[in-house]
Amino acid sequence: MIRIHPIQTGCVQVKTAQQRRKIGGLLRVFIDREWTEWLPIYCWAIEHPEGVIVVDTGETARTSEPNYFPYWHPYYRLAIRMSLSSEQEIGPQLHKIGIDSQQVPTVILTHFHHDHAGGLHHFPNSNILVSWNEIMIAQGFFGKLRGYLPHRWPEWFAPIPIEFKTVSFGSFGRSYALTEAGDVVVVPTPGHTPGHISVVVKTEGLSYILAGDTSYTEELLIKREPDAVSPSRKTAIQTIDTILQYAQEEPTVYLPSHDPKSVERLKNKQTIKCAP
Ligand SMILES: [Zn+2]
Repeated sequence: MIRIHPIQTGCVQVKTAQQRRKIGGLLRVFIDREWTEWLPIYCWAIEHPEGVIVVDTGETARTSEPNYFPYWHPYYRLAIRMSLSSEQEIGPQLHKIGIDSQQVPTVILTHFHHDHAGGLHHFPNSNILVSWNEIMIAQGFFGKLRGYLPHRWPEWFAPIPIEFKTVSFGSFGRSYALTEAGDVVVVPTPGHTPGHISVVVKTEGLSYILAGDTSYTEELLIKREPDAVSPSRKTAIQTIDTILQYAQEEPTVYLPSHDPKSVERLKNKQTIKCAP
């Protein structure tokens, strides 16, 4: 039996122009005065007969330390607010549900943004799988410019690149099976970042897409509205369409990281309903 546990590592506020791309794209994020409500930062623990798989590691409470974020970076100065305590980090929360983070065999990062990679220090013994593309663009000074925090990764961090196979999985042209049973599969979902990936869990006749930041909410997915962070609007929409196509063929529960309704949909097994 497979169980998916939601883990909420605090909350984040961003500008409404980030969540839902407005005219002006990323620039608009800096002049927009409107903040979103406090949004959850979800990651997920999949209890699987072949071992626990953690998808994303959430945020760290260290973000409240002065200069945790690069002081010179306009995005961190002007366009984001965080709220979480150390007890809300992923390690203590896994402990509460009986999972020792030191013994988790596999961790997947949907992408390297700080609110997905902030809890890496809880997993020193895990195989941490990521997309190769994401490793390359997140490193060094240019990585920092793009909003990644490579200097905050643990020293021991040695991510393993996923080698996607040209084996289609529903509407996805490439895939990588994480389990021998073939019921937990990684698929490329570029858009929000060029190397973004998602994890699909198939159980009891349903597919659960642990979607990272492919869109901020299910509503925005259905409306085919990409965010302002995506470097390529076209790529983001292609991924949205691939997910919608998948959901037409398979009953699918869509679980992005910052959708306040993700956990309700997980509990109620509520599938994506697209307009015909
Ligand atoms: Zn992100």
